[in-house]
Amino acid sequence: MAMNVRPVTALDSEVNDIRMATAEIVNEQILPNEHALWGWMSDSANAPNKVKDEAKALRLGIQDNVKQAGLWAPHLPKEFGGMGLSFMQHAYMNEVLAYSPGASSLFGVVAPNSGNQKILVKYGSPEQHEKWLKPLTEGHMQSAFSMTEPDNAGSDPRSITTRAELDGDEWVINGHKWFTSNGYAADFFIVMCRTSDPDDPGGQNDKMTQIIVPKDAPGLNIVRGVPVWGRTSSHCEIRYENVRVPKENQLGRTGTGHAAAQDRLGAGRVYHCMNSVGSMWRAFDLMIERLMTREVHGGEKLEDKQFMQGFVADSYIDIQTARLMTIHCAEKMESGADPRTDISAIKIFVPEAYHRVVDRAIQVWGAAGVSGDLPLANMYQGARTLRLADGPDEVHKILIAKNVLKRYHAGETWDFGN
Ligand SMILES: Cc1cc2nc3c(=O)[nH]c(=O)nc-3n(C[C@H](O)[C@H](O)[C@H](O)COP(=O)(O)OP(=O)(O)OC[C@H]3O[C@@H](n4cnc5c(N)ncnc54)[C@H](O)[C@@H]3O)c2cc1C
Repeated sequence: MAMNVRPVTALDSEVNDIRMATAEIVNEQILPNEHALWGWMSDSANAPNKVKDEAKALRLGIQDNVKQAGLWAPHLPKEFGGMGLSFMQHAYMNEVLAYSPGASSLFGVVAPNSGNQKILVKYGSPEQHEKWLKPLTEGHMQSAFSMTEPDNAGSDPRSITTRAELDGDEWVINGHKWFTSNGYAADFFIVMCRTSDPDDPGGQNDKMTQIIVPKDAPGLNIVRGVPVWGRTSSHCEIRYENVRVPKENQLGRTGTGHAAAQDRLGAGRVYHCMNSVGSMWRAFDLMIERLMTREVHGGEKLEDKQFMQGFVADSYIDIQTARLMTIHCAEKMESGADPRTDISAIKIFVPEAYHRVVDRAIQVWGAAGVSGDLPLANMYQGARTLRLADGPDEVHKILIAKNVLKRYHAGETWDFGN
């Protein structure tokens, strides 16, 4: 089933054109080829080379078409080889892109490279742009973001203990990280380091620095890919043992690491939520397709059963609510108003809604729903993971309550219209 994308009346023609052109590539070139592109990955060790080569040729062909259509790297400014989209344009493009899981990689957006590219654009020096950002954007390099530690709560990034100390012109890094995604393939790692002690003068948010560490730096030891959802993964556990890098490998000023991480997450959460909306859209279409065709006891279609009709209504409500909340939050960010409460609200609500929508689609498809023949099983795991990555639900609930109560304590009430 193709994605039904038509121009949205409230949007200008530029963003509508981008959405239509994106949908054309997703519908005509990606959806019919999903199996050939990615089907072999569930058992990549045993996949014949011929299948892998065909997938690669297909991928490169689609990427060329994406570039020719001017849809490459929606997250980057034009001077760095991207589309130069505004924040809202990018958000509206994402829901179309994410209809096919994996499609974003064919449009030049691959986590964690995309987040690292944005950090490099904002905090990198011209030399760092040339040395790291350019090859990363051109696809000649891979990267990883190394912040979370096994011994400290990732939900409180200020608790990290990986330490970088200056020795002459070099940073010397010692620490233990895990869940550094893309760790095996990465040519360089952006490592979040503590560069002053908690008791030193200055705010707690000014004591971290992000430092670029090349993969071949002596002392960077990948311990393992941490298995995730029962499968091997490239979310790596890494020990940094007396790793030395030049001082100029730090990103931005010393102490700006926490601010840079927040930059990465703020807009990123809106993009992730619009991705989830696109994936829910697909799960919904798949669910309806099955309801309309599957016959059950007595020859009736599933669509005639009221339990199943309830699924349609509940999923419709979940998707519309998630989408409108996310767009409202994005508009607030764009307007310059304080979006923090809304960012936390979508960060909680959208992955939960995504989880419910995919869960219903799986139920309707029965055994096929959890098979590798459909994208639903992967979506389900992705939705569950989203509830703890980028700040777990509970932390965001605390933030919402804090922001709301602060306003009431100040003698104001909440204005839901703004
Ligand atoms: C697939 C995957 C990929 C990842 N990729 C990366 C990556 O590339 N780079 C990277 O640096 N990290 C990465 N992470 C790590 C991720 O960012 C962290 O797992 C996340 O921030 C949560 O940290 P934690 O696992 O240490 O959980 P903890 O901080 O230990 O929290 C555990 C649980 O405790 C509860 N909790 C926490 N704080 C509170 C509170 N204040 N009040 C009440 N309850 C609370 C929540 O339920 C939470 O889920 C990845 C994680 C996954 C699963």
